[in-house]
Amino acid sequence: MEKPPLPCDTLVAAGVLVTQDDTRRILRDAAIAVTDGHIAALGPAKELRERFAPAETLDLSGCLVLPGLVNTHTHAAMTLFRGLCDDAPLSVWLSEHIWPAEAKLSAEAVRLGTRLACAEMLASGTTCFLDAYLFVDAVADAAEASGMRAVLCQGVFEIANAGFKTVDAAFASSEALVARLAGHDRLRPAIFPHAVYTCSAKTLSRCAAFARDKGVLLSTHACETAKENDDCVKANGARVIPYLHDLGLLGPKTLLAHGVALDAADIARLAQTGTAVSHCPRSNMKLGSGIAPVAALSRAGVTVALGTDGAASNNALNVFSEMTTAALLQKVASGDPTRLEAQAALDIATRDGANALSWPELGRLAVGGPADLCALDMTRPQLAPGLDPVSDCVYAASGGEVRCTMVAGKVLYRDGAFPGLDYPGLLAAFREASAGITGRAS
Ligand SMILES: [Zn+2]
Repeated sequence: MEKPPLPCDTLVAAGVLVTQDDTRRILRDAAIAVTDGHIAALGPAKELRERFAPAETLDLSGCLVLPGLVNTHTHAAMTLFRGLCDDAPLSVWLSEHIWPAEAKLSAEAVRLGTRLACAEMLASGTTCFLDAYLFVDAVADAAEASGMRAVLCQGVFEIANAGFKTVDAAFASSEALVARLAGHDRLRPAIFPHAVYTCSAKTLSRCAAFARDKGVLLSTHACETAKENDDCVKANGARVIPYLHDLGLLGPKTLLAHGVALDAADIARLAQTGTAVSHCPRSNMKLGSGIAPVAALSRAGVTVALGTDGAASNNALNVFSEMTTAALLQKVASGDPTRLEAQAALDIATRDGANALSWPELGRLAVGGPADLCALDMTRPQLAPGLDPVSDCVYAASGGEVRCTMVAGKVLYRDGAFPGLDYPGLLAAFREASAGITGRAS
């Protein structure tokens, strides 16, 4: 006797399905059954159509469907400052342009900047991001409303700023964030000491203790430039990595952003401690910081993930272009075209990003896992003829081919629109907030 079909919320038809599962299966004419935000089944479309009676169907049969991309380093609200200062060294960019502008931030501006960033990320296939900034409660409001998944960090540093007056206040805000997000299915708290050059040793070790006590991730900027190591040696008698290690900041729940200026001993220490690195190739290129030793890190067994950094230093929050850039840059740096091949580049944008956030269910499409995915329009000329879907994702796609982005089973972006969001209203309010801070009309 034939079994009656099983109910499910949505049956997604996928022309090509790049699962990024443990065996990197790629299925053609596939489907995904989604229930309660999770994947109930995936397999041949014909088979799933017989097995399931869905409440809704989503036809992505003309699309290449892959896991939602994971952006492991950004400062989302810095969209407010996009284009404010380009073509300047990091120290000038920070102290003469960004910090003065950040002094004028308000919670509402941060909420609007983050919300716009979420729209930008969704439209280019990102479903999860790690954010580190000020006014983290406003960031959480925006992330909550966006429907995205996120790891949210209160930035901690010892420079006068609009968000908090004292380091104690930053810790109080981190405490409140941990309490607010307890048990949340999409948002997780973390802590982000800004860098060794903006935090005292005491504050850095206090952040490490906080992360351990609360069981949350710790992320920080580290080894973005060679100068950062030179200054750290002068100030503290050690390079950045051994200094962070001595203060208790390295470990399997630590994610270092940038990791450009790393020597062999640093890399060995990251591998020993299980510390991950968020590679931000376009930000590093734009600021002339250098090229992270991604191949050496991977060979040593360090988890490498991808990040866009903030929109004031990149200037786009597009993980597809980071993926392309990361792959090309490793080849340029080494003169070896076999470095960071397409599959490895797609891995760092998906599975490895999830691993780096200690959220290993993400970044892959598998039964029982979250239904977080994006879909590329395979009818676009740049994705034809479609001989190798992984190659197309890394070397041909720009992110502009994204037709649909889903998080936890909900469609958050579809064909240029954001269901449930008054995008024109958001854009107008965002532009006004940016003009109010930068003093420049858009
Ligand atoms: Zn950053």
